[in-house]
Amino acid sequence: MPETTPYRRVLVKLSGEALAAPDGFWLHPPMLAALAEDIREAIGHGIEIAIVVGGGNLIRGARISQAGWIDRATGDSLGMMATVMNSLAIETALNAAGVQARTMSAVSMPTICETYARQPALHHLDKGQVVVLAGGTGNPYFTTDTAAVLRAAELRCDAVLKATQVDGVYSADPKRDPEAIRYDTITHDEAIARDLKVMDTAAFALARESKLTLVVGSVHAPSSVTAILTGRSVSTRVVP
Ligand code: UDP
Repeated sequence: MPETTPYRRVLVKLSGEALAAPDGFWLHPPMLAALAEDIREAIGHGIEIAIVVGGGNLIRGARISQAGWIDRATGDSLGMMATVMNSLAIETALNAAGVQARTMSAVSMPTICETYARQPALHHLDKGQVVVLAGGTGNPYFTTDTAAVLRAAELRCDAVLKATQVDGVYSADPKRDPEAIRYDTITHDEAIARDLKVMDTAAFALARESKLTLVVGSVHAPSSVTAILTGRSVSTRVVP
Protein backbone atom coordinates (compact mmCIF):
# COMPACT_ATOMS: atom_id res chain seq x y z
CA MET A 1 0.00 0.00 0.00
CA PRO A 2 1.53 3.40 -0.90
CA GLU A 3 2.52 5.50 2.09
CA THR A 4 0.47 8.64 2.64
CA THR A 5 1.45 11.92 4.20
CA PRO A 6 -0.57 14.80 5.61
CA TYR A 7 2.07 17.25 4.39
CA ARG A 8 1.92 19.27 1.20
CA ARG A 9 4.89 21.59 1.73
CA VAL A 10 7.59 21.03 4.32
CA LEU A 11 10.74 22.86 5.28
CA VAL A 12 13.46 20.36 6.14
CA LYS A 13 16.04 21.67 8.63
CA LEU A 14 19.31 19.77 8.58
CA SER A 15 22.29 20.45 10.73
CA GLY A 16 25.59 20.78 8.89
CA GLU A 17 26.74 17.61 10.62
CA ALA A 18 24.17 15.62 8.61
CA LEU A 19 26.35 16.22 5.52
CA ALA A 20 29.66 15.18 7.04
CA ALA A 21 31.26 11.76 7.34
CA PRO A 22 30.48 10.11 10.69
CA ASP A 23 34.01 10.82 11.93
CA GLY A 24 34.62 14.07 10.09
CA PHE A 25 33.42 17.59 9.51
CA TRP A 26 33.91 18.17 5.83
CA LEU A 27 31.27 17.35 3.19
CA HIS A 28 30.90 13.64 2.54
CA PRO A 29 29.61 12.79 -0.98
CA PRO A 30 27.87 9.53 0.08
CA MET A 31 25.89 11.44 2.74
CA LEU A 32 24.90 14.04 0.15
CA ALA A 33 23.85 11.38 -2.36
CA ALA A 34 21.76 9.56 0.26
CA LEU A 35 20.09 12.83 1.26
CA ALA A 36 19.31 13.63 -2.38
CA GLU A 37 17.71 10.21 -2.90
CA ASP A 38 15.67 10.70 0.26
CA ILE A 39 14.41 14.09 -0.93
CA ARG A 40 13.60 12.60 -4.34
CA GLU A 41 11.52 9.95 -2.58
CA ALA A 42 9.72 12.56 -0.48
CA ILE A 43 8.88 14.55 -3.60
CA GLY A 44 7.51 11.33 -5.11
CA HIS A 45 4.93 11.38 -2.31
CA GLY A 46 3.74 14.77 -3.53
CA ILE A 47 5.52 16.83 -0.87
CA GLU A 48 7.07 20.17 -1.87
CA ILE A 49 10.38 20.65 -0.12
CA ALA A 50 12.40 23.63 1.05
CA ILE A 51 15.67 22.97 2.85
CA VAL A 52 17.58 25.01 5.41
CA VAL A 53 20.97 23.62 6.29
CA GLY A 54 23.25 24.71 9.11
CA GLY A 55 26.97 25.19 8.96
CA GLY A 56 28.04 23.49 12.15
CA ASN A 57 30.14 20.93 10.27
CA LEU A 58 32.34 23.82 9.13
CA ILE A 59 32.00 26.86 11.41
CA ARG A 60 29.84 28.09 14.26
CA GLY A 61 30.27 31.80 14.93
CA ALA A 62 29.69 31.62 18.68
CA ARG A 63 32.28 28.88 19.07
CA ILE A 64 35.11 30.43 17.04
CA SER A 65 34.59 33.87 18.59
CA GLN A 66 35.11 32.37 22.07
CA ALA A 67 38.81 32.04 21.28
CA GLY A 68 39.01 35.86 21.18
CA TRP A 69 40.76 36.41 17.84
CA ILE A 70 37.54 37.19 15.95
CA ASP A 71 34.41 39.03 17.04
CA ARG A 72 31.04 37.33 17.13
CA ALA A 73 29.48 39.19 14.20
CA THR A 74 32.41 38.33 11.92
CA GLY A 75 32.42 34.75 13.17
CA ASP A 76 28.72 34.55 12.35
CA SER A 77 29.46 35.89 8.85
CA LEU A 78 31.82 32.95 8.39
CA GLY A 79 29.10 30.65 9.73
CA MET A 80 26.56 32.03 7.26
CA MET A 81 29.03 31.51 4.43
CA ALA A 82 29.50 27.92 5.63
CA THR A 83 25.76 27.40 5.17
CA VAL A 84 26.07 28.66 1.60
CA MET A 85 28.80 26.07 0.94
CA ASN A 86 26.62 23.32 2.38
CA SER A 87 23.61 24.52 0.40
CA LEU A 88 25.49 24.49 -2.90
CA ALA A 89 26.67 20.96 -2.14
CA ILE A 90 23.05 19.88 -1.50
CA GLU A 91 21.87 21.60 -4.69
CA THR A 92 24.57 19.77 -6.64
CA ALA A 93 23.63 16.39 -5.13
CA LEU A 94 19.93 16.99 -5.79
CA ASN A 95 20.57 17.92 -9.41
CA ALA A 96 22.73 14.81 -9.83
CA ALA A 97 19.78 12.76 -8.53
CA GLY A 98 17.52 14.32 -11.15
CA VAL A 99 15.80 16.72 -8.75
CA GLN A 100 15.54 20.36 -9.82
CA ALA A 101 16.90 22.52 -7.04
CA ARG A 102 18.07 26.07 -6.59
CA THR A 103 19.98 27.72 -3.84
CA MET A 104 18.73 31.10 -2.63
CA SER A 105 20.93 32.92 -0.17
CA ALA A 106 19.88 35.49 2.42
CA VAL A 107 23.41 36.86 2.05
CA SER A 108 23.63 38.31 -1.43
CA MET A 109 26.19 36.47 -3.57
CA PRO A 110 24.86 37.05 -7.08
CA THR A 111 27.75 35.42 -8.90
CA ILE A 112 27.22 32.21 -6.92
CA CYS A 113 23.50 31.79 -6.38
CA GLU A 114 20.18 33.62 -6.33
CA THR A 115 19.51 36.06 -3.54
CA TYR A 116 16.60 35.00 -1.35
CA ALA A 117 13.33 36.77 -1.97
CA ARG A 118 9.96 35.44 -0.90
CA GLN A 119 7.95 35.67 -4.13
CA PRO A 120 10.51 33.95 -6.38
CA ALA A 121 10.99 31.27 -3.70
CA LEU A 122 7.23 30.63 -3.64
CA HIS A 123 7.25 30.48 -7.43
CA HIS A 124 10.04 27.85 -7.47
CA LEU A 125 8.19 25.76 -4.88
CA ASP A 126 4.92 26.03 -6.81
CA LYS A 127 6.77 24.64 -9.83
CA GLY A 128 7.91 21.64 -7.78
CA GLN A 129 11.52 22.70 -7.44
CA VAL A 130 13.42 22.22 -4.21
CA VAL A 131 14.55 25.51 -2.75
CA VAL A 132 17.72 25.35 -0.68
CA LEU A 133 17.74 28.37 1.60
CA ALA A 134 21.28 29.43 2.39
CA GLY A 135 22.83 32.09 4.58
CA GLY A 136 20.52 31.58 7.56
CA THR A 137 18.50 34.71 8.29
CA GLY A 138 21.29 36.87 6.86
CA ASN A 139 21.95 38.34 10.30
CA PRO A 140 24.49 37.52 13.00
CA TYR A 141 23.38 36.29 16.43
CA PHE A 142 20.76 34.00 14.91
CA THR A 143 20.81 30.29 14.13
CA THR A 144 19.66 28.29 11.18
CA ASP A 145 16.84 26.90 13.37
CA THR A 146 15.45 30.44 13.49
CA ALA A 147 15.99 30.78 9.73
CA ALA A 148 14.10 27.50 9.21
CA VAL A 149 11.06 28.65 11.20
CA LEU A 150 11.11 32.11 9.61
CA ARG A 151 11.23 30.75 6.06
CA ALA A 152 8.65 28.06 6.79
CA ALA A 153 6.23 30.72 7.98
CA GLU A 154 6.98 32.99 5.02
CA LEU A 155 6.72 30.19 2.46
CA ARG A 156 3.47 28.75 3.83
CA CYS A 157 4.95 25.42 4.84
CA ASP A 158 2.78 22.96 6.77
CA ALA A 159 5.65 22.05 9.06
CA VAL A 160 9.35 22.27 9.81
CA LEU A 161 10.99 18.87 9.95
CA LYS A 162 13.99 19.16 12.26
CA ALA A 163 16.24 16.21 11.53
CA THR A 164 18.33 15.48 14.62
CA GLN A 165 20.41 12.78 16.28
CA VAL A 166 17.41 11.48 18.24
CA ASP A 167 14.01 10.27 17.08
CA GLY A 168 11.92 12.89 18.82
CA VAL A 169 11.42 15.05 21.87
CA TYR A 170 11.86 13.20 25.17
CA SER A 171 10.79 13.96 28.72
CA ALA A 172 14.51 13.78 29.70
CA ASP A 173 17.81 13.02 27.95
CA PRO A 174 17.28 9.44 26.70
CA LYS A 175 21.05 8.79 26.75
CA ARG A 176 21.18 9.51 30.49
CA ASP A 177 17.72 8.60 31.77
CA PRO A 178 16.34 5.15 30.88
CA GLU A 179 12.92 6.31 32.13
CA ALA A 180 12.75 9.07 29.52
CA ILE A 181 9.68 8.84 27.31
CA ARG A 182 9.28 10.14 23.78
CA TYR A 183 6.25 12.29 23.05
CA ASP A 184 4.25 11.51 19.90
CA THR A 185 2.48 14.86 19.92
CA ILE A 186 2.85 17.78 22.27
CA THR A 187 1.72 21.38 22.07
CA HIS A 188 4.05 24.38 22.01
CA ASP A 189 2.69 25.45 25.40
CA GLU A 190 3.24 22.00 26.93
CA ALA A 191 6.80 21.97 25.62
CA ILE A 192 7.44 25.31 27.36
CA ALA A 193 5.69 24.23 30.58
CA ARG A 194 7.81 21.06 30.71
CA ASP A 195 10.96 22.96 29.78
CA LEU A 196 11.64 20.69 26.79
CA LYS A 197 14.43 21.72 24.46
CA VAL A 198 13.00 21.51 20.94
CA MET A 199 14.87 24.38 19.27
CA ASP A 200 16.72 27.44 20.51
CA THR A 201 14.57 30.00 22.29
CA ALA A 202 14.26 32.49 19.42
CA ALA A 203 13.35 29.78 16.91
CA PHE A 204 10.82 28.18 19.23
CA ALA A 205 9.19 31.51 20.12
CA LEU A 206 8.69 32.27 16.43
CA ALA A 207 7.24 28.79 15.76
CA ARG A 208 4.77 29.23 18.60
CA GLU A 209 3.86 32.74 17.51
CA SER A 210 3.29 31.67 13.91
CA LYS A 211 1.42 28.47 14.95
CA LEU A 212 3.85 26.32 13.02
CA THR A 213 4.02 22.56 13.50
CA LEU A 214 7.49 21.23 14.25
CA VAL A 215 8.32 17.60 13.52
CA VAL A 216 11.41 16.27 15.27
CA GLY A 217 12.91 13.01 14.05
CA SER A 218 16.16 11.14 13.58
CA VAL A 219 18.51 11.48 10.62
CA HIS A 220 19.75 7.95 11.22
CA ALA A 221 16.89 5.96 9.70
CA PRO A 222 17.31 5.09 6.01
CA SER A 223 15.56 7.74 3.89
CA SER A 224 14.83 9.52 7.14
CA VAL A 225 13.01 12.55 5.71
CA THR A 226 10.56 10.41 3.75
CA ALA A 227 10.24 7.90 6.59
CA ILE A 228 9.34 10.60 9.11
CA LEU A 229 6.95 12.49 6.82
CA THR A 230 5.07 9.32 5.88
CA GLY A 231 5.00 7.97 9.43
CA ARG A 232 7.29 5.00 8.64
CA SER A 233 9.66 6.29 11.34
CA VAL A 234 8.59 7.63 14.71
CA SER A 235 8.91 11.32 15.49
CA THR A 236 7.48 13.98 17.76
CA ARG A 237 5.02 16.54 16.45
CA VAL A 238 5.00 19.84 18.32
CA VAL A 239 1.71 21.48 17.42
CA PRO A 240 -0.12 24.76 18.16
N1 UDP B 1 24.41 31.96 11.41
C1 UDP B 1 24.14 33.32 11.58
N2 UDP B 1 22.87 33.77 11.34
C2 UDP B 1 21.86 32.96 10.97
C3 UDP B 1 22.13 31.57 10.84
C4 UDP B 1 23.42 31.11 11.06
O1 UDP B 1 25.01 34.09 11.92
O2 UDP B 1 20.73 33.43 10.75
C5 UDP B 1 25.79 31.49 11.60
C6 UDP B 1 26.15 31.25 13.05
O3 UDP B 1 27.51 31.58 13.24
C7 UDP B 1 25.96 29.75 13.20
C8 UDP B 1 26.45 29.27 11.84
O4 UDP B 1 25.97 30.25 10.95
O5 UDP B 1 26.73 29.21 14.23
C9 UDP B 1 25.97 27.92 11.45
O6 UDP B 1 24.60 27.77 11.71
P1 UDP B 1 24.08 26.77 12.84
O7 UDP B 1 24.94 26.89 14.06
O8 UDP B 1 22.62 27.03 13.02
O9 UDP B 1 24.32 25.37 12.14
P2 UDP B 1 23.94 23.87 12.60
O10 UDP B 1 24.24 23.77 14.07
O11 UDP B 1 22.48 23.69 12.33
O12 UDP B 1 24.80 22.99 11.73
